[in-house]
Amino acid sequence: MTQTLHIIGGGMAGSEAAWQAARAGLRVVIHEMRPQVGTFAHRTGDFAEMVCSNSFRSDDDEQNAVGLLHWEMREAGGLLMEMADRHRLPAGGALAVDRDAFSAGVTERLRKHPLIETQPGEISELPQDGHWIIATGPLTSGSLADAIRAETGTQALAFFDAIAPIVYSETIDMDVAWEQSRYDKGETEAEQRAYINCPMDRDQYEAFIDALLAADKTEFHEGETAGYFDGCLPIEVMAERGRETLRHGPMKPRGLTNAHDPDTKPYAVVQLRRDNALGTLYNIVGFQTKMRYGAQAEVFRMIPGLQDAKFARLGGIHRNTFLNSPTLLDDQMRLKSRPNVRFAGQITGVEGYVESAAMGLLAGRLAVAEMTGRPLPMVPSTTATGALVTHITGGAEAKTFQPMNVNFGLFPPVEGLKGGRKGREARYKAYTDRAKADWRAWLGATALDAA
Ligand SMILES: Cc1cc2nc3c(=O)[nH]c(=O)nc-3n(C[C@H](O)[C@H](O)[C@H](O)COP(=O)(O)OP(=O)(O)OC[C@H]3O[C@@H](n4cnc5c(N)ncnc54)[C@H](O)[C@@H]3O)c2cc1C
Repeated sequence: MTQTLHIIGGGMAGSEAAWQAARAGLRVVIHEMRPQVGTFAHRTGDFAEMVCSNSFRSDDDEQNAVGLLHWEMREAGGLLMEMADRHRLPAGGALAVDRDAFSAGVTERLRKHPLIETQPGEISELPQDGHWIIATGPLTSGSLADAIRAETGTQALAFFDAIAPIVYSETIDMDVAWEQSRYDKGETEAEQRAYINCPMDRDQYEAFIDALLAADKTEFHEGETAGYFDGCLPIEVMAERGRETLRHGPMKPRGLTNAHDPDTKPYAVVQLRRDNALGTLYNIVGFQTKMRYGAQAEVFRMIPGLQDAKFARLGGIHRNTFLNSPTLLDDQMRLKSRPNVRFAGQITGVEGYVESAAMGLLAGRLAVAEMTGRPLPMVPSTTATGALVTHITGGAEAKTFQPMNVNFGLFPPVEGLKGGRKGREARYKAYTDRAKADWRAWLGATALDAA
């Protein structure tokens, strides 16, 4: 095989993509800018550096979607999971690793592979021809980000992640909350009922503001704040500007009538907007925040209707370069305007080490299939890998697209199972059983290994 796959970025996604492609017999060149050009978060020149925590999160492949993603990557012969398992540290049910040994192990394995070449240095242009995967992550260098923006348009590449928390819709108390769009706007009934609204009276609002002001917050990293703009102010910063600011901003009650108590005008209203086509996830509108995760759950459960809320992901704001993938990528993770270029990892709008590595694994396999002319059936959306890629390449709302962790809200429901908390254990087991069977069948049908 003489064709070469070029991969820009030797992080979580690029390393796994390179491994998958080389295992299948392709020549691979990894273009990595570190250590010549650094980022504010990376410390070394090694591949697959863990920039912050040393955890791959839950390793429970029966009850947890990220644990299922571990399982799927292990089944696919993933290098990152092999190294994570080899350098595992005791951490209860989580998969924590010795970060230096982990990335040194990944680096050694890739550098020693006879089909993998590494070319140091920054790539600043979008490649014209050949087969490429761009896996340059949340801290993509400025010149390459400019080139991507020039190709895709300014609206299509975000530099900040202003993440509003996302709630599982089944955990919202609809005896308190109601569905309605502001001023009943919309042509269809579905549009007129597009939002879920949670009402607050004056005392509840004042208590909520006090909690926001008192909550523990995280600081911006050095070099992170450039470009941070007023349009995505954290809610606690809005509250600091004045106790009434939120009530005239994201929490304004205008144009909304409480369906459970039409005669009482709410003092403030928190709105949630549908976040996926399945309607299983809702984001809290305008609620980006720098509150620490522990504080967030506590403060947001003060909102009437969200007292038992379970969060698919919590809010945040940090430097993060990512594409509007639902509009820009096809279902093979290729840039629609330049199909010789695939994207993988966090830049596609997934969030987390594990999710990024999984998108690298998939992009590597998709590139192999294309370059070797072997048809590859779509990865089933019932698997964790498939649920994620389906979300970023079309399932998510393009207008409000924000990076996503893997979670069961992205999976098509298993029919005939009990909803709510009581049914959760059986439901999650059904999701993971179905995913495992479908992933094995897909891997069998796509057997890419050269050996
Ligand atoms: C500050 C910070 C903290 C984070 N903490 C966590 C955490 O604790 N847990 C978690 O699960 N996730 C975390 N993430 C999110 C994310 O999952 C990780 O950043 C993850 O490493 C993403 O994988 P990736 O392969 O997409 O990007 P990366 O692992 O960042 O890899 C991208 C690679 O591309 C290289 N590169 C960039 N531009 C160019 C270029 N032009 N030419 C050549 N090479 C280039 C970079 O040097 C880097 O090696 C964090 C992100 C940030 C920014």
